[in-house]
Amino acid sequence: MGDSSAPNGVIDTSANRSVCWVAPKTLEIQHREVGEISDDEVLLEVITTGICGSDAHVWASNPAKAPPVLGHESAGKIIKVGSKVTDRVVGQRVAIEPGFACMKCEFCIRGQPNVCANLSYCGHTENGTLTRFFKCPPHMTVPLPDSVSFKEAGCIQPLAIAVQLGRRANMRAHQTVAVFGCGPLGLLVMAVARAYGVRKIIAFDVEQSRVDFAVKYNADIGVVSPMNTESVEPLKFATDFMEEVMKKHGLGSGVDLTIEASGAEPCVQMAVLLTKPGGTIMAAGLGKPLTSVPLFQFTAKDLTMKGTVRYTPGCFADAVDLLERKAVDLAPLITSTYPLTKASEAFEAQAARQDIKIVIMNQE
Ligand SMILES: [Zn+2]
Ligand SMILES: [Zn+2]
Repeated sequence: MGDSSAPNGVIDTSANRSVCWVAPKTLEIQHREVGEISDDEVLLEVITTGICGSDAHVWASNPAKAPPVLGHESAGKIIKVGSKVTDRVVGQRVAIEPGFACMKCEFCIRGQPNVCANLSYCGHTENGTLTRFFKCPPHMTVPLPDSVSFKEAGCIQPLAIAVQLGRRANMRAHQTVAVFGCGPLGLLVMAVARAYGVRKIIAFDVEQSRVDFAVKYNADIGVVSPMNTESVEPLKFATDFMEEVMKKHGLGSGVDLTIEASGAEPCVQMAVLLTKPGGTIMAAGLGKPLTSVPLFQFTAKDLTMKGTVRYTPGCFADAVDLLERKAVDLAPLITSTYPLTKASEAFEAQAARQDIKIVIMNQE
């Protein structure tokens, strides 16, 4: 352990191809110097990186300070350990926790590094992981069992977020759970709900194909939400549709738990109407800054609404555990892979929303 001799330095890290943001919707593969690792860091050969909506957002935007290197959902192999690192070894397979929490602010000290006051994040404020080689402190690496493939491990970060949602929501076996939004996060929350043995899962989306996928994957009931194209008064529109859904699917007075993973305002309103008195709504979709909620019903039904972001300590390990026990299968979600050298095409595809989950092979 901690022996930084032997295999260290065998792999040639001089050609460190990295996916760099140079202008909105314009990427370049550039060489970025890896540099020496410090005594308390590890160096990874990055194998896979999942792409998500937030990457596409950075790609398409014109931030004042764009991190040159994008990417934050990655897994790889440790190829070098610093002399003071005692709990990681060369050759170890790991996933990367991409947040640099300060572990000193009041939120970190309370065990909530996901809302760290000084948080920096790979691919957002720090250089990301869409690179061949990446160095970080060992505690940002999560050991992977051999049974978890690198491809799946490239999607562990969003699964860790789904685990965090399950924690915050107090997901329980006897609950009926509704999920608005059948994108990757919605699908992963359904997978976690299924793994936790919930009674019934109802999936909502405006796209038939996404609903069909959710039903094939983990949902018991799939519902295509209509668009309010005739400008019906929003509360009436949501009320009429939810009454129809509850009657048609025998949901009685509503569901115990609703996960809002779409960010769409009508879904937030429907969530209040669909959740039974005393139930919980988890807000997980990042929609527009101001969303109107039927507060009268929210109050009268004694509902609880919680927000959460990213993941908290142990969520990655729980996600790895779910994969190792085959309680969650990520493979069906990975609909395309691209070599790192074709990252531009991967980001175009991500923006076009044709895929469920795209994974980039960092060494190719
Ligand atoms: Zn992401
Ligand atoms: Zn902090």
